Amino acid sequence: MDPAPGAAEQRGDQEAGSPEREPAPWQALPVLSEQQCGAVELVLAYAAPVLDKRQTSRLLKEVSAVHPLPAQSHLKRVRPSRDASRPHTLEMLLCLAEPAVGARSLAELLPWPAVDARGLGQPFLVPVPARPPLTRGQFEEARAHWPTSFHEDRQVTCALAGRLFSAQERAAMQGHMERAIRAAQQAAARGLRAVGAVVVDPASDRVLATGHDCRSPATPLLHATMVCIDLVAQGQGRGTYDLRPHPACSFAPAASAQAVRVGSVRKLDEDVDTDEDGLPYVCTGYDLYITREPCAMCAMALVHSRVQRVFYGAPSPDGALGTRLRLHARPDLNHRFQVFRGVLEAACRRLDPDT
Ligand SMILES: [Zn+2]
Repeated sequence: MDPAPGAAEQRGDQEAGSPEREPAPWQALPVLSEQQCGAVELVLAYAAPVLDKRQTSRLLKEVSAVHPLPAQSHLKRVRPSRDASRPHTLEMLLCLAEPAVGARSLAELLPWPAVDARGLGQPFLVPVPARPPLTRGQFEEARAHWPTSFHEDRQVTCALAGRLFSAQERAAMQGHMERAIRAAQQAAARGLRAVGAVVVDPASDRVLATGHDCRSPATPLLHATMVCIDLVAQGQGRGTYDLRPHPACSFAPAASAQAVRVGSVRKLDEDVDTDEDGLPYVCTGYDLYITREPCAMCAMALVHSRVQRVFYGAPSPDGALGTRLRLHARPDLNHRFQVFRGVLEAACRRLDPDT
């Protein structure tokens, strides 16, 4: 087991090459999609006061039949009046408004005889949430405009509250990030950029590859993520780069039980993903731990290799998993993966002055 935080100071020494102990507790927070973290988009709609409450259920039925709102099923049709000085206590959502609209009468909005508009007052325009809220924060913002239903994704709520991972999982995550930090320190000792990474099979907690940034004028693409993906591929008998000059970059050959060879597919489920050659993607089901947020090239390599989750320590000004882009969560890419930031963030920030 790793010593408790502060143990190194108590010993009065620090093992050469071991990562600095994290003085502050860290949190692995999810990096959500644009849709999940964006502001609530509003559209204009017509609503009308319900002057005769006894007509409410009939009006609700008739208005909903004439103006169904299939894309806005999150909106409640009726809300309590927000103006205590007015005589009516309820207001009813009638329909969405066209762009560049003005005032409309009940007769224009509710065709007779499909709707008998008796019991309703003069329509008014009101901004309502265009889409269902995806997070509790969006829900709170949305309902301030118009009553909205919310189907909470408990995993997202839990993750946002920093409660997704158990103490045991956090200990394993910390161990993997400490390994990535050691790799980054070894890179720095060789005059390379201090970015380290580790690929882990979360099913067994087995480390499949450890690598660091190896870029040079001759190999400008060898960022730590690219190195690690190639190392995993080498463990599968594939791979492209000669990384032997970098002894801290290593891979574990695929174990026989899960060997990924031509003709032998590592089954994650019945419908394992394969590339054009019929081979499984390099990182299907695997996790990447990396000290610094990957760039766009590396993020796309992670999409192509079908990684399952990425945990990074420090954000990067050119990062593509949360800072500049959110490539892991784009609906128009054919693979998406989960991203968490902040694992041993303080120690990771200290590695690389640019982060
Ligand atoms: Zn990169």
